[in-house]
Amino acid sequence: MEKKKREILKRIDKLVGPYRITKGKGFRLKDIDPGDTGGLDSEQKPGAREMLARGIQWMVEEQDKFYAADRHSMLLVFQAMDAAGKDGTIRHVMSGVNPQGCQVYSFKQPSMEELDHDFMWRYQKCLPERGRIGIFNRSYYEEVLVVRVHEELLERQKLPQDLVTRDIWEERLKDIAGFERYLARQGTVVLKFFLHVSRREQKRRFLERLDMPDKNWKFSSADVTERGHWRDYMAAYEDAIRATASREAPWHVIPADNKWFTRLVVAAAIVEAFWKLELAYPQVDDAKKKDLAAARKALMGEKK
Ligand code: ATP
Ligand code: MG
Repeated sequence: MEKKKREILKRIDKLVGPYRITKGKGFRLKDIDPGDTGGLDSEQKPGAREMLARGIQWMVEEQDKFYAADRHSMLLVFQAMDAAGKDGTIRHVMSGVNPQGCQVYSFKQPSMEELDHDFMWRYQKCLPERGRIGIFNRSYYEEVLVVRVHEELLERQKLPQDLVTRDIWEERLKDIAGFERYLARQGTVVLKFFLHVSRREQKRRFLERLDMPDKNWKFSSADVTERGHWRDYMAAYEDAIRATASREAPWHVIPADNKWFTRLVVAAAIVEAFWKLELAYPQVDDAKKKDLAAARKALMGEKK
């Protein structure tokens, strides 16, 4: 890797490192402040904007090589409470990447058909092909978050009674960790993001949705009901992160009270993951070189 790149990587690591969880043991959600901006203050916002723009540019370049190499795939998992900025982050961070190499899936409440299968079924069907980036806007983690907070949802999953014990969440988390290990061994780069918004900021954003006619459509009264379960959700998130953070599928718990900072750290984490793959365009072998020379000759030999 070039020296310049290595230096930038060091800076990226400094920005992303405090929020990257690769070992779950001992992780506490309260150690990460949703209002944190990593020492960058809002006066530097134009600076942050430039950094984000540069990050996105790098990502675009890397994605092109990633697509051409056709070896790895990348799965980006986004989880968050409502109004934490998942949609906006996905939109901003992925702006400019080649849509052919990228797919976004948003997971809502499961259908009857989906409930008739094992919980991973519907997510597995959406995994990215080699060379592609797959974005999960909500994911299989909902199976240990919303389903854990609202146990009546578990009943709808039609599991045999003897499999529903008090260990079910721990078992699911183990299965998820195992599934992600499997993906990593298949060449999938798994990056998980929890956009960590504070309850106070969520209230402010809900009120904004109520106050501004253009944002009314985003508001759902169900979101306010879910807010009532805040503590349960935070406990479920903490447990999930503890049980599934690993080197091959790290969690990034990203402060989300300031959207500019959230986007910057997410973009930086993705660039970092790409660079670590040391991607290069596929080398052309002798046979292919001959082929190219012949094609050139044919083109040059045409009359018009
Ligand atoms: P936004 O509100 O920004 O448009 P969203 O992801 O919140 O995006 P909604 O349609 O509001 O989308 O909500 C989807 C709902 O589906 C969430 O409340 C989520 O908890 C729920 N959901 C997702 N997966 C499952 C699941 N496996 N079982 C039950 N509910 C689920
Ligand atoms: Mg919603």
